[in-house]
Amino acid sequence: MKAGIFTTTLENVVDMGIQDTRHFKLAFDPGTVFDFDAGQFVNILVEKDAKTIKRPYSIASPPSWKGFIDLCWKRVDGGLVTNLLWDYKKGDKLTIQGPLGRFTAHKPLPKAIIFISTGTGIAPFRSIFHELLREGTACEIWNIFGNRYDEDILYQKEFEELAGKHKNFHNIFTISRPKTWKGEKDYVQFMLKKYISNPADKHIYICGLTNMIQEVQKTALEIGFTKEQIFFEKYD
Ligand SMILES: Cc1cc2nc3c(=O)[nH]c(=O)nc-3n(C[C@H](O)[C@H](O)[C@H](O)COP(=O)(O)OP(=O)(O)OC[C@H]3O[C@@H](n4cnc5c(N)ncnc54)[C@H](O)[C@@H]3O)c2cc1C
Repeated sequence: MKAGIFTTTLENVVDMGIQDTRHFKLAFDPGTVFDFDAGQFVNILVEKDAKTIKRPYSIASPPSWKGFIDLCWKRVDGGLVTNLLWDYKKGDKLTIQGPLGRFTAHKPLPKAIIFISTGTGIAPFRSIFHELLREGTACEIWNIFGNRYDEDILYQKEFEELAGKHKNFHNIFTISRPKTWKGEKDYVQFMLKKYISNPADKHIYICGLTNMIQEVQKTALEIGFTKEQIFFEKYD
């Protein structure tokens, strides 16, 4: 679908944990058609000092959930738009532009896809996981997801439920500053090395901040992945 401008209504606002992260459910007006591919993003448009400012946010819900989209975003220290969005409440209007971007699962799917993210970098992957699993893919899906603290794991219960329902969906949650966490504790690039050895017929998708993406790319190339097998979306 060609990108357009849409006025949406904030139907739900959820605080996601301790890392100043929020989940927005944006409802379209009845009858609005908004088709997108899992993994795409929208621009949020806000007015400030008589100027329109745009920021991209990945769509965190799959295309099959009709009438609304989810976003998952973190308030950035000193950040212009996220500090404005922090005051938005249920019922407020939000203008978006989209769908945009090409960070989608390339078909035909390989034997396995390893999705690697930290923090809100999980947003496009939540969309892709639900979409691929709904389609009944046989592709092995790995969700390597890094966060700082035990309570930061966004959508943890939902991902655990997906793993319970689908044998080909695997969660590797890793916590870099654990409190009582008994699971993995190293950075995501080390999880890639630990769990994925043979790169044949596998793709890697990485989403989040540049530093993490560079570390994962470096590790992936060391394991034997080629650049053509690696796809990424940088948030900064
Ligand atoms: C394709 C795309 C999709 C994106 N999707 C999401 C998303 O789903 N959720 C989300 O939270 N963000 C997402 N971002 C980042 C988002 O667009 C904004 O850059 C971010 O919210 C900061 O906006 P701001 O106006 O508050 O900060 P600004 O005033 O623009 O600047 C703050 C500074 O912080 C940097 N920065 C950006 N993101 C972060 C971060 N997460 N942590 C620390 N520093 C950061 C910026 O590069 C900039 O230097 C995405 C970016 C891109 C390019």
